Amino acid sequence: MSPVRRCSRTACGRPAVATLTYVYADSTAVLGPLATYAEPHCYDLCAEHGERLTAPRGWEVVRLADPSAPTRPSGDDLEALANAVREAARPPSREAEGRGRGARTADPVEVARRGHLRVLRSPES
Ligand SMILES: [Zn+2]
Repeated sequence: MSPVRRCSRTACGRPAVATLTYVYADSTAVLGPLATYAEPHCYDLCAEHGERLTAPRGWEVVRLADPSAPTRPSGDDLEALANAVREAARPPSREAEGRGRGARTADPVEVARRGHLRVLRSPES
């Protein structure tokens, strides 16, 4: 017999449907699917309290998509970024093609930036 998880808000006894996790390092509150295990810094919330959740000052609230949804957009974004970074990190082809036509080559153009990562694209492509 497994006890029903309840909303952690005071005076709220509704069944919990989501788990709120505080990521102190990033000042981010992540509201996601009900966690399998109760962990420190995690608070179970009912549907109503999950919707009404507001972040403390200076914090960001991230609401994870319905776990039953087929796609994980954030993961795709990261994968796309990783692919773009890998392409940008390849040695420039103009090195292999010879430096004789170097007059028309230009510095790579920065097309994206996330954190310390920059995605560069050669202007001729
Ligand atoms: Zn509640």
